[in-house]
Amino acid sequence: MKVRVDSDLCQGHTLCAMNAPDRFALRDEDGHAYAVDEDVPAGQERPVREAARSCPEQAIVLS
Ligand code: SF4
Repeated sequence: MKVRVDSDLCQGHTLCAMNAPDRFALRDEDGHAYAVDEDVPAGQERPVREAARSCPEQAIVLS
């Protein structure tokens, strides 16, 4: 599974980093989230899916 954050949609709520702190971080410059690694390792899908579901802006794109 792959994950990325649409920076145009992200509003920096931080929910993703709270749900999956190993997978998401926020940039100092603009406070927007990014995926630490676009390739989600086996066993890490669940928190990433939870983060995507909880994002109020639906900015987390899974593929
Ligand atoms: S929860 Fe969504 S809008 Fe908020 S920081 Fe994460 S990706 Fe951005």
